Amino acid sequence: MAGATDVGGGPIVGIDLGTTHSLVAVVEADGRPRLLRDEAGQALLPSIVALDDDGQLVVGAPAQAILARDPGRAAWSVKRLMGRAWADLKDQAAHLGHRVDAAASERVVQVRLGDSPRRYSAPELSAALLRALARRAEAALGQPVARAVVTVPAYFDDAQRQATRDAGRLAGLDVLRILNEPTAACLAYGLEGERAPEGTTVAVFDLGGGTFDVSVLRLEAGVFQVLATAGDTHLGGDDLDAALLAAWAPRLPTPADDLQRERLRRQVVAAKHALSERPAADLAFGGVNLTVTRAELEAAVAPVLARLEGPCRRALADARITPADLDHVLLVGGATRVPAVKRLVRDLFGRPGSDAVHPDEAVALGAAHQAHIMAGGRRDAVLLDVLPLSLGLESYGGGVSVVLPRNTPVPAIATDHYTTFVDDQTAVLVHVVQGERALAADNRSLARFRVPIPPRPAGATRLEVRFVVDANGLLSVTARDAETGTVREVEVKPTYGLTSDELDRLLADAQAHAEADAETRRLTEARAKAERVLAATDRGRASPAWASLGEEPRMAIEALSRNLRRALGGDDPDAIEALTKTLDKAAVPLAEAVVTAALRQGD
Ligand code: ADP
Ligand code: MG
Repeated sequence: MAGATDVGGGPIVGIDLGTTHSLVAVVEADGRPRLLRDEAGQALLPSIVALDDDGQLVVGAPAQAILARDPGRAAWSVKRLMGRAWADLKDQAAHLGHRVDAAASERVVQVRLGDSPRRYSAPELSAALLRALARRAEAALGQPVARAVVTVPAYFDDAQRQATRDAGRLAGLDVLRILNEPTAACLAYGLEGERAPEGTTVAVFDLGGGTFDVSVLRLEAGVFQVLATAGDTHLGGDDLDAALLAAWAPRLPTPADDLQRERLRRQVVAAKHALSERPAADLAFGGVNLTVTRAELEAAVAPVLARLEGPCRRALADARITPADLDHVLLVGGATRVPAVKRLVRDLFGRPGSDAVHPDEAVALGAAHQAHIMAGGRRDAVLLDVLPLSLGLESYGGGVSVVLPRNTPVPAIATDHYTTFVDDQTAVLVHVVQGERALAADNRSLARFRVPIPPRPAGATRLEVRFVVDANGLLSVTARDAETGTVREVEVKPTYGLTSDELDRLLADAQAHAEADAETRRLTEARAKAERVLAATDRGRASPAWASLGEEPRMAIEALSRNLRRALGGDDPDAIEALTKTLDKAAVPLAEAVVTAALRQGD
C-alpha cells in the first residue's frame, strides 16, 4: 500500500540530498518511516552525475563507473556548488573536482561534462539526482510522486536553499519544505516529542563523505532552534579513505590505470567499512591479499580525526554551553560508524553519541517524518523550515516593524517592544502582519488583539511582544505588560493558505513597490511621529505643569507647534522630521514637568 503521506495530491517523500549519497524515504501507513531502495536493494544513491555515451545525464552507480573511466564526464560533490557563483568558489577550485566554466559562471557556476558544448548548473545536476530518487519512489509506491521535503545543512544560506528548491522544481518536484539536516536527525530520533520543562539541548555530530557539520539545537515547547553550527566543508569519510590509501597502497601492487585505481579505492573503502565491525579485515588487490587491522586504521586516520575537535568546541562555545548541558548527542553521517569517531565524540561531549537510528539514514528518515507531518498524517507537530515572508507588527502610523525577517530558519522565537505614544492609553492594539511591503495595510493581516494597560504617561508602558513559530506550524504572539504582568496571547497561521503563486506575486509586488514604499513609509512615519509629539505637547500645554515653565520656552514651544502643524499640511518628510525634532527637544522641560506632576499626584 502507498505511504501514509498520501493525503490528496499524492505522496510526499523525504529526501536527503547529500554531498556523497542521497536517499529517499516515506512514512508508511503504520506511521513508520521507511527508506526506499532501488532494484538492487540499495538505499544510498551515490551523488554523482555523469554524461553517458548518448549524451544523457546518468546518476548513481552508472555515473560512478563513468567517473572511474573518464573523470571529465562526471560531477560529484555538486552540493558544494549550490547557490554559488565562480567568485565564491575560486579559492577552493582545487577541491571541487569539476571542470567549471569560469567565464560562464559569473552568476551561477556552470560545469562542463565531457566535450559537450552544454553547460550544467548545480541545480540542474542536483535535479538529475532528485529525479532519480522520485522515479525510485514512484516505482516503490506505485503512484506519481510530485512533492518532497528536501534537507540542507543548517548553515545553508538563502541562495543555497533557493538553489535546492530550484533543483526540485527542475526535477518536477514541488519542494514543500527545506528542512535543516540536524533538525531532521532530531525528528528521526523522535526528540520533537520531548517535553522537558527546561527544554532539551541536543548536539548533532554529522560526519559524511566530504563534510563535517556539528550543530547545537535547543528544543523548547516543540520548537527547534539552531543555537550554533560549526564544521569543516572539506572533512569527511573521503579524507579517511585518502589516509588509508596512503598507508596501505605501498604494501600493494601499483594500479596500472584509472580503472584499477578506482578498484583499489573501492577495496580500501570496503576494508574501512568492515573494520567498523571487526578488528581485522582482508584487502585483496592485484593478486595480493592483505590483512589490515583496526589499530592500523586508527593510527592512519588519527591526524584526520584530530581536525574534528576544533569545530565541536567552537559549536559549544558559540551556543554558550558546556558538554554537561547536553541532553543528547546524535551521530549522523556514515563516517560516524568508525569506532574511533565514536570514542572521540564521547571524549569531547562527555557522553556516548546515540546511533540507534542508522547514521547515514537518519536525515532521510527525519525528512520523511516531516513529509508525513505536512501531509496531515500527524497533527500534533509541524516543523517549518524558513519563513517565506516576513512577520511583523504594525507600528505607530501604519508602518511595519519586522520581528522575524523573511527566510529566518524556523521554528523561531523573537521579541519586540511596544511603547505607548499617547498619555493615559488604556489599551495597546497589537496588529500582526506578514509580507514585505512597507505599510501594514499592504501586507496580509494575521491577527489583531488588545492588551489592556493602566493609564500612564506616553512612553511609560513597555509591552514585550514575543513571536514563536512553533512545531504546529502556528505563530503564537504573546504580549506582556512588564509592569502589571498582563499577558495576551493569540495563535495565527503564518504560511498556510498562501499558495506559491500568491507568494511569487507578493514578492514581485514588494520588489516593484520597494522605492515608492520607502518614500511613503518615511512620510507616514514622519507624520505619525509629528502627531505624537504635537499631541504630547498639547496635553502638556493644557496641564498645570505648563505654568511652571518660563515665558521663553513656552513661546518657543508654541511657535514650533504652529510651524509643525503647517508642515503637516504638506508632504515633505524632511521638513516634518526637522521640525518634529526641534519641537521634541524644546518640549523636554515640559515633558519632565508633566511626569513629575503625574508622579506627585499618584503619591
Ligand atoms: P553525505 O552526507 O556526505 O552524503 P554519508 O552520510 O552518506 O555522506 O557518509 C558517507 C561516508 O560514510 C563515506 O565516506 C562512507 O565511506 C562512510 N561510511 C559508510 N558506512 C561506513 C562504515 N560502516 N564504516 C566507516 N565509514 C562508513
Ligand atoms: Mg549527510
